[in-house]
Amino acid sequence: MSITRDQVVSIHYTLKNDAGEVLDRSAGGEPLTYLHGHGNLIPGLERELAGKSAGDKLQVTIAPADAYGEYDPQLVQRVPRRTLKGLADIRVGTRLQAQTEQGARAVTVTQIVGDMVTLDGNHPLAGNTLHFEVEVAEVRAATEVELSHGHVHGPGGHHH
Ligand code: ZN
Repeated sequence: MSITRDQVVSIHYTLKNDAGEVLDRSAGGEPLTYLHGHGNLIPGLERELAGKSAGDKLQVTIAPADAYGEYDPQLVQRVPRRTLKGLADIRVGTRLQAQTEQGARAVTVTQIVGDMVTLDGNHPLAGNTLHFEVEVAEVRAATEVELSHGHVHGPGGHHH
């Protein structure tokens, strides 16, 4: 069975950046399981996996636009620390929800200088070219419930 839309796919993967550093990998020998064609993976990786079958191995390089997007400097803002009151423990690397003109957005604290806190709304991997080594572990048909939810249930998937 080869990978097409609406199939449940399990993959082992290792993700590296341009410097060859491992950013992420399927953990503990357990594959990542996802519903293909529903935006659960970054677009570039879904496109590379289409048509592959269990046992296939691939190495792919994915540009930022097909991964987590280009880095957008407009998503960076500096705010006085007092506007973040109620958040006692603000440090570089802290992830929080910030209210913006576009509504609530996940941001990362990237710098603290004096009373000013820099919040970055870019995905942590925005602007990165991603290098994946992937092995397809399993491909199966999705259940009707999985299709209606747009994600996988059971081992490796969401649990409700
Ligand atoms: Zn569900």
